[in-house]
Amino acid sequence: MNAGIDPEGDAGYLLYGDALFRKHRKKGWAYVGSPVPALEAPVADTHAHLAMLSHPALSLARCAVVGVDFVCAMCDPAEGDECERTYRDLDIWRAEALRLLPEVFEATRRNVTAERESLEAQAHAAGKKHAGQAAEAAVLLESVAVDERACNLCWGAEPAIPHMRIACGVHPHVASQWDADMEAALLERLADPRTAALGEVGLDYHYDLSPRDVQQNVFRRQVQLAHVTGLPLVLHVRDAHEDAFRILEEEGWPEAGTLLHCCSVGPDELARWVERGAHVAFGGAVTFQRSDDLRASSAMVPAERLLTETDAPYMAPVPFRGIECGPEFTIFTAGRIAEVRGVAPGEARRALLQQMHDAGVAFLNREPTEWQRAHADIARDAR
Ligand SMILES: [Zn+2]
Repeated sequence: MNAGIDPEGDAGYLLYGDALFRKHRKKGWAYVGSPVPALEAPVADTHAHLAMLSHPALSLARCAVVGVDFVCAMCDPAEGDECERTYRDLDIWRAEALRLLPEVFEATRRNVTAERESLEAQAHAAGKKHAGQAAEAAVLLESVAVDERACNLCWGAEPAIPHMRIACGVHPHVASQWDADMEAALLERLADPRTAALGEVGLDYHYDLSPRDVQQNVFRRQVQLAHVTGLPLVLHVRDAHEDAFRILEEEGWPEAGTLLHCCSVGPDELARWVERGAHVAFGGAVTFQRSDDLRASSAMVPAERLLTETDAPYMAPVPFRGIECGPEFTIFTAGRIAEVRGVAPGEARRALLQQMHDAGVAFLNREPTEWQRAHADIARDAR
């Protein structure tokens, strides 16, 4: 699976084929420990553009090892063949991930041993003169041991390739492509029972890639379609919360719920969304150094509506910024949110993680709506 992969590329895991995490250094890739101690409960990635990853199946196999057991794949009928591939290949990616899993475990075990030997040598060489370096190596050593335990644990258990659902919607960036054909294509996808939400839809005044009045019209229409189809909405809102909130007030908030994806606002703006019952998802941005306002927001959302996500392949959490992000990176974001909420590892963190996981799964792993059942015949057969 490593053939032809550029070692200087942006997806280091392809080189190693294991479930460890590495960041890019000048000379190749450097091992980065998983959260220590290991997370006590499974984690859900509620927003991943899986079709855009270099190797979706390998990423799903890595998810199985590190404990990400649910992924919602995002797609957009206006974005080339991304949508087609997502619906067509979803089951293929999962089957391929299952096939890869033994190899991934084996590579993980082998590389854990190699990393441990090299870190032990480094810690030894650093000695007293470089106490800081030695301490750093000791911390990494501990996380290597955690990886090994996690690996051994999963080895004997049922492999949990993530359960997957799909969200489909026309992004505000491409709103200017909206027409009757686009709406018909979207409805065909929404009728597929694997579709769990309409999204991501909304307004983006940061990039302004479509005219604002067009963005608003297309968003308004898709809010109406959420009412028609009975599906919840996944919202992408950037520098446009005033207008997005107003349109939702005018059209009515979907009964099936609303998910504010990639929360980008502080508690002052977020308060009214939470009051309106919105679910709120946090991605890698919550780990960025300058994101104090996002961290404050992640602390104020009630745990039963607090979700984790990646926005893969974008927004890799610290310390992986700039490299390709897969759904398995959600564990770093989940760990950081627990820290921000002052929840210590152990039973308290297990409870919070389980609650966030269950909130994401409950929101997205839903039964087909009445509309979906009635329109199953229009779902485009992509299998
Ligand atoms: Zn997205």
